[in-house]
Amino acid sequence: MLYLDNSATTQLYPEVKDAMLPYLMEEYGNPSSKYYSVAENAKAAVKQARNHVASLLGCEDSEIIFTSGSTESNNMVIKGVADQYPHVGNHIITTKVEHPSVLETCKYLEEKGYKLTYLDVDQYGRIDVQQLEEEISDQTILVSIIWGNNELGSLNPIKEVAEICRENNVFMHTDATQIIGKVGIELSEYPGITFLSCSAHKFHGPKGIGVTFIKKDQYGIPTKITPLLHGGGQEQGIRSGTLAVQNIVGMGKAAEITSERIVENQRKLSELENYLTQILKNKFGNQILFNNDVKNKIPGIISIQFSGVNNELLVKSLSPVIAASTGSACSSSKPSHVLKSIGLDIQQIRSTLRFSLSPLINQNDLQIFQQL
Ligand code: PMP
Repeated sequence: MLYLDNSATTQLYPEVKDAMLPYLMEEYGNPSSKYYSVAENAKAAVKQARNHVASLLGCEDSEIIFTSGSTESNNMVIKGVADQYPHVGNHIITTKVEHPSVLETCKYLEEKGYKLTYLDVDQYGRIDVQQLEEEISDQTILVSIIWGNNELGSLNPIKEVAEICRENNVFMHTDATQIIGKVGIELSEYPGITFLSCSAHKFHGPKGIGVTFIKKDQYGIPTKITPLLHGGGQEQGIRSGTLAVQNIVGMGKAAEITSERIVENQRKLSELENYLTQILKNKFGNQILFNNDVKNKIPGIISIQFSGVNNELLVKSLSPVIAASTGSACSSSKPSHVLKSIGLDIQQIRSTLRFSLSPLINQNDLQIFQQL
């Protein structure tokens, strides 16, 4: 079976599994313990992994907080800022096309009395920075904008968003879950970004581990958020709980490999995307319509309407040979809010399939589409 659902999750790099195994077996120490070897070894492994993730993101080691993944990181930042800065304001700006872990957290806060603005998007799911600028007020405590869209691949103008936030002295968060490993980032070049979320399993690391980047100082003061989990004070007191050493080591290894291969992977994914696009155009002609933009996007994510076809039936019928998705894995039972936000009607949404590619496949693998 050809796995083309890499936006849902990815296969582990074999090196990641090898790096993790000792920490599931003989190196079982708790990194918060002291003086004896298995604890010190675990501590050293976590330190090294933190350094690899920081290098991948272009930030300092101390700005990396390990979490269970992007869902937790998104919750941590949005609830944590809302709780910490009520004296500054109660207004949060986000978009209509965020992942549910952002949208549902925002809805929860809205029910608690916070004021939320959900920015509109264009036909490819990108926000208008002018609209963002107009919406920022002296009550705004956070702007949370997805970097790259999980259904369409479109990249938001994050440089401009970060600049606007900086000019207005507003904290900015970005959900970067989908871009890591596919688009190179260097956080030191984005001084306006205060927080970022990502998950290891989207770039060939293990599931159940992710990171929140928290910029040490923003606008001249140390960045503070209220913890989601209180307890033993791990992760600078921001995220208590015994560290998942084997997962952290796995994420560190995936980050190390990703840093080495990012340029090659990006090129490979673009080539594969162009190749698959051409095969599909040749084969299906005007029976298909592409929802995604061709430029300024995460390479390797394609969203297509197969006119007159029910996407669930199509995914099922393809499933013995190709694994594809009707949208995002997180909310595939409901019609996609992302596709709705770009103006598609229910018929068009119900006929849309997403293919998300991996640098671990090649053009020969995609020949399978010729046989459909
Ligand atoms: N944000 C985006 C954009 C995602 O694609 C996902 C995963 N589908 C998440 C957040 C949540 O990540 P996780 O399930 O690893 O917590």
